[in-house]
Amino acid sequence: MAESMDKPASRFEIAVIGAGPSGFYAADALLRSELPVAVDVYERLPAPFGLVRYGVAPDHPRLKSTIKVFEKIAQDPRFGFIGNVDVGSDITLQELRRHYDVVILAHGTRRGRALDIPGGDLNGCHTASDFVGWYNGHPDFMNLRFDLSARSVAIVGNGNVALDLARILLQPIDALRQTDIATHALEVLAESSVRDVHLIGRRGPAQAAFTNMELRELGQLPGVNPTVDAAQLELTDATETELADRKRFLICKNIETLRSYSERNEVESERRIIFHFLRSPIQAHGSGRIEELHLAVNRLEGKPFEQRAVATEETEVIPCGLLFSSIGYQGEPLTELPFDDYSGTYRNNQGKVAGEPELFTAGWIKRGPSGIIGTNKACSQETVGQVVQYLNGSVGPGSKKGFSGVRQLLESKFVNFDTWSLLDALEISAGMKLGKPREKILNFPKAIASLHNRPSSR
Ligand code: NAP
Repeated sequence: MAESMDKPASRFEIAVIGAGPSGFYAADALLRSELPVAVDVYERLPAPFGLVRYGVAPDHPRLKSTIKVFEKIAQDPRFGFIGNVDVGSDITLQELRRHYDVVILAHGTRRGRALDIPGGDLNGCHTASDFVGWYNGHPDFMNLRFDLSARSVAIVGNGNVALDLARILLQPIDALRQTDIATHALEVLAESSVRDVHLIGRRGPAQAAFTNMELRELGQLPGVNPTVDAAQLELTDATETELADRKRFLICKNIETLRSYSERNEVESERRIIFHFLRSPIQAHGSGRIEELHLAVNRLEGKPFEQRAVATEETEVIPCGLLFSSIGYQGEPLTELPFDDYSGTYRNNQGKVAGEPELFTAGWIKRGPSGIIGTNKACSQETVGQVVQYLNGSVGPGSKKGFSGVRQLLESKFVNFDTWSLLDALEISAGMKLGKPREKILNFPKAIASLHNRPSSR
């Protein structure tokens, strides 16, 4: 059993908060370091893997293959998974700091940023992160309701999350049935009336944050036609200068892909994804529920690489019965710590939290919600470099109790990796019956109790 109570005392005891990609990559880098370490990864949910499990779209199983890497890391006898423990309510950060040589904050960001516009609180207005949590079977979001009876949906934001939403809303339901999408979402999507998804970006096509593979994928969805008005793909001089930079190769590919979509405008199809560049939402209208979104038409101003969207006097209206704000995530501190509210990150230098000895940070809560899953590897390695430097200058290992110092407090509720593996097996077997890779557990207390009630339970 990979549990920290068996770890010898002559090791540095390290707690990582958050079992998402940055937490696992931090644990991996620590276990590979030359220092004697024991690493305990604390997680609020009984299930590990954070964004890979609850953020990656269900129709992108390849991106979830990093779970295999994380499972291997968890097999190291110096690794402990302490799931189902909410740092802040089940145990304080202060207590962890008392019992560990170092604490790494890798808890990511849970909350999607909402649009601050009049009418933005009408029924039918949601953050993309709520929808993602709901279709991915995250227990915090399972009771949300999404009314997909409207024909037209608007998504504000030009990042990959917006593309994820567009695909989930429009792709054939039979393709989704074979994924690990939550059954409650599948049932609602099967009855969906959504035919048009409007993707709205405040800046131009060259400033969009889409990655090219994801943008091209839209063109391959059966029965779906991505379209864009060619006039919206005209580039400013400053943008042409930006594109001349060789590092912008993938942006040029995006423009190429969008140009190909602009030529498909006349293609008949049942479902459409309509790009609207240089448009900012100014108001949502409707009686009780959103019925239309008013947009300002923007122009770009500023030097290359610093172009900003500036509203003109021109406006447009898009009829829509649902609005998703997909404009990034807002990080929040675990407790009172040096925090930059604007970027939503701990104030830190290469992962070392400002003015807080023994406290480090990694992942989205360190650098902001950016990059692909692999980006977290280098980010966590940088942090661990700082941790190793700090520990090398410390009094040495052996002075902290680690998990054995807090175990009594958590005994009745924590879930270790062995228990998670049993839950994992339950999910896979429930999924097999439905022809899916897994059916995610929504009610963890019930599932955990069912393990204890089995004759073979540990
Ligand atoms: P993102 O990539 O940062 O995109 C956010 C978008 O919102 C940008 O287009 C931004 O425009 C726009 N925006 C921000 N504030 C706005 C406002 N007030 N009004 C209008 N538009 C606004 O964020 P994301 O899509 O949430 O993705 C988060 C990270 O996860 C990204 O690194 C993404 O690549 C990654 N991800 C990857 C995948 C994948 O690899 N398949 C899937 C999902 C997510 P400006 O540029 O003008 O600020």
